[in-house]
This record gives sequence, C-alpha cells and structure tokens, in this order.
Amino acid sequence: MKRLLLLIAVFTSCSVLVKAQTSGTATRPEKCGTMSHLDAMKLQNPGLEQQMASDEARLQNIMDQQAASRTSSPSVVYTIPVVVHVVYRTTGQNISNAQIQSQIDVLNEDYAKLNADTVNIGSGFQALASSTQFQFCLANTDPNGNLTTGIERVQTTTTAFTQNDNVKHTSTGGLDAWDVNNYFNIWVCNMSGGILGYAEFPAATHTNTYGVVIQYNSFGRVGTVSAPYNLGRTAAHEIGHCFRLYHIWGDDGGSCSGTDYVADTPNQADMTYGCLNYPANDACNSTASGIMFNNYMDYSDDDCLNMFTVNQAARMYTAVNTMYNTLLHSTRCESPNGVNEVNNLAFSVYPNPTDGIVNIDMFTLQQKFPKLNLRVTDVVGRVVSETSVENPSGRVEQLDLSNEANGIYFVTLYNNEVSKTVKFTIAR
Ligand SMILES: [Zn+2]
Repeated sequence: MKRLLLLIAVFTSCSVLVKAQTSGTATRPEKCGTMSHLDAMKLQNPGLEQQMASDEARLQNIMDQQAASRTSSPSVVYTIPVVVHVVYRTTGQNISNAQIQSQIDVLNEDYAKLNADTVNIGSGFQALASSTQFQFCLANTDPNGNLTTGIERVQTTTTAFTQNDNVKHTSTGGLDAWDVNNYFNIWVCNMSGGILGYAEFPAATHTNTYGVVIQYNSFGRVGTVSAPYNLGRTAAHEIGHCFRLYHIWGDDGGSCSGTDYVADTPNQADMTYGCLNYPANDACNSTASGIMFNNYMDYSDDDCLNMFTVNQAARMYTAVNTMYNTLLHSTRCESPNGVNEVNNLAFSVYPNPTDGIVNIDMFTLQQKFPKLNLRVTDVVGRVVSETSVENPSGRVEQLDLSNEANGIYFVTLYNNEVSKTVKFTIAR
C-alpha cells in the first residue's frame, strides 16, 4: 500500500476508523526484531536514516520506470549462494544439516511460488500472488576457495542473543560473516525475548552484518522446529526484509498512515497473529478482499503464510539488483575444483519448465567428443541423475525426472577437461 492509497482510504472509510481488532493484539509478543534493530542501527549511525531515504527514492524511481513492463511471472531467476552459521550453546540448538536443508527447500518453494499452500490464497489475491527472481543454494566454495557444505558451526557461551549483532562476530561469541558480496549470510541461534528473527535492510553502503538471524527452532520444517512457526516462514519473512520489503501493515501502530512502499498490497492497520479467515477486514481496510494476512510480510502463523505479491517481487529484485548486484552473479555454489565452462559445449534443455520429461539437445555441440557425462543436480547440489553419453554430438538425450519434486535443477555436461551447466525448472 502506498501512502496516497492510504490517505484515500482514511477519508472514505471514517465509519471503520475505530479499530475493529480483527487482527493484531497488543498482548502478543513482537515476532520480528527487524524494525527495533533498524532503530538501534540508526542511533549508532546518524547517517543511516538519510542514506535509506535516498536509497528509497532511487528505488522508487527505478520501480516507476519499470511499472509498465512488470508481469506476474518474472522470467530470469538468480540463485544466491547461502552460508548458514549455526551458533549453539546446547546440543539441541546445534540443528542438523537436514533441518538446514529443509529451510533452503522452503525458501526455494516460497520464492518460486511452488509452495503447495498457494491453494489457500483468497480468491481476491490469487492474481496478485507472484514468484520472485530468487532461488537459494548452500555454498560449495568457501571464502578461501575450499570445498564447503555452506554450513559452519561454533559452540558459544551465550545463553540467548539479542538484536545487537553479537551473533555476527566471532569476537562476541558468534561467527563472522562470509563476504556479503558473494554470500547471503544466515545466522541460526537461540534468541531472547520471544523474537523469532531479525534482518538487516540492504543499503548502498555495505556492512559486514548484512543478512538474517533466525531462532533455531523456527528454522526449517524438520528437526527441532516448534509450532506454530515450524514451516520455515520466519526466514522467508526476514529475507524479504533483506531484499528491502517492509511489514505489510506499514509499521504505523495501527494508524492507517504508514506504508510498505508496495502498491499492490492492501491497506492494513496492524500485524496479524494466528490465522484469520479470508476475507478479513480491519480498521484501515473495508474492501471485499480485505487485508492480506497471508502475505509473508505479516505475522500470521507459518501455515497461514503463502504469498508475495507481483510488486513485492519486483521491489525485491530491484533492491538487490541495485544494492547487492554481486549476489545475483556469485559463483560460490559451483565446486571449487570445477573445470572451466567452454562455449564448444553449447547445448539446450527443453521443454523448460518441464513436467518431468526433459530433453538434452546436443545438436549444437561445436566439437566431437567421444563421450560426455550428464549430471542433474537440484539447488542444494544433490545428484538426481548421472549418466554418460557416447558420441553426444548431434544427439538428443531424454531424461525422466517425473519422480522429482517441483523446483530448480541444473544439467551439467562434462568430461575431465570441460564442463557446462544449464538451469531448468520442474513445475506441474
Ligand atoms: Zn519483520
């Protein structure tokens, strides 16, 4: 909701200005610490407010120029290398690799609108629900160029971390960020005060603290996760902040005058807890579709959150592209010992997206190879298929991946000297 829309709403809906209390309540704890963390950062850095304002103006300018060409299905997808820093005191807080991978899976579903619960999106919001241009992979190469799982762990003496960023520094009981230009940093730890996570907004001036911090038992969807925040949506929300999304109600204390700088999210008074029934109105919204309590940038329970909007997706891409462009082109999910990609390995994959039957077209290979290996991996590097092809030039190899889940996959054609990878999507 943009401010202009808000003002119109205020003048045309005086009869509902008395807050209806259909959504947020004052008695529930703050779930996300991002705005209080931002307030603390502004106190430490007096220039930050000004910088965020000028960043916002630049962002709005670009967004306005792009508005005419915006579609609900952005075509180019960027896979961002992720490092997960697990900072634990108890063994229970030292979450498993499987729990971490389940979080990556959730992100790749939610940010591609491949999550199964899109069926729960209210009828008035279905056309607004959008995939984004982001996917995520655990890094394969660490900052020293060595092979990594994209996960590092340290035991700490800190019982519970606050939003003071101590978890982001080895010197204060946490772990240092990996280069924020090449890795998206996620810290997992125990947090105090019932906070489930917090994020740092992107800014043109980079910090060594950019990323998200997530409560260990709200991270992923298997292992130690605890209902109702047990489906990985805390990270989906916090990463939204890192990509410059604000809370959907505009952080205005219920006054109807704040904004999330997104035009296609409806006006909303305050945060929502639990899960409302669609459609739900509140003091700032008496429209037929009501408030978008199911948006990832609200506070509803994990099993109630299921969408970003078209304009949120566009805003996220524009923000990352203008402020953290290197993340979109980072190669840290490729193997450190990977061989060089070469143009004489040109091949194509069709149909894309596919329902599972995928053709690897090697008619365009510009060299005769006696044999090439053909490997398919998913976004976290799991090998889904591995075969070899004799005399590949001029051939079309067909693979049946119909048992694989929806998502992003990579086909790599390689031998001991050359390698080339092409990305495709399974979507049914
Ligand atoms: Zn938040």
